Order: sequence, then C-alpha cells, then structure tokens
Amino acid sequence: MIRTIHCTPCNARKPYQCLWCGEPIERGELYVRALVKVDDSVQDQKWHSECLEHSVLIDISGEFTFDAYSNTRPVKDALAWVYPE
Ligand SMILES: [Zn+2]
Repeated sequence: MIRTIHCTPCNARKPYQCLWCGEPIERGELYVRALVKVDDSVQDQKWHSECLEHSVLIDISGEFTFDAYSNTRPVKDALAWVYPE
C-alpha cells in the first residue's frame, strides 16, 4: 500500500535526481519533495513538478507502480493547450 505522508515544493539546495524521469534536478531549481509510505518503509522522493503532475494524471488512484528514473519528462506547460488562458 502506498500512502503520501506529505508533499512539499522545495528549492534544491543540492543536485538531485528526479524519481520519474531520472533527469537531474539542478541546484536552485524548484522541485517537489514527497514523503511516501510504501508498505512498511518511508521513501523520501524528489520529483520535477511537471513529472509529478504527469504521473498523477496517468493514474489518479495513486496506487500505480512505475519504473523509477526511466520515464519521459513531460514538456513544461504541456497542458497549456488543454486549459488555454
Ligand atoms: Zn522529472
């Protein structure tokens, strides 16, 4: 069972790797830090905000599994055409 404990937007103080796409999160870049409980272990996950958004859109149940570090990073503002201003 997967349960999100909390999700916080953070400014990267050091380089990280995005859990979804495996691309670097550069120092100073805004990213989302997610504390997630998977079965009995707690994971400290780092995500690009657009990657997290994209993964949530794929499966809103939050119970899906995926291969870490090997997914395509979505283009930022890819949803702009869905919700034009
Ligand atoms: Zn990413």
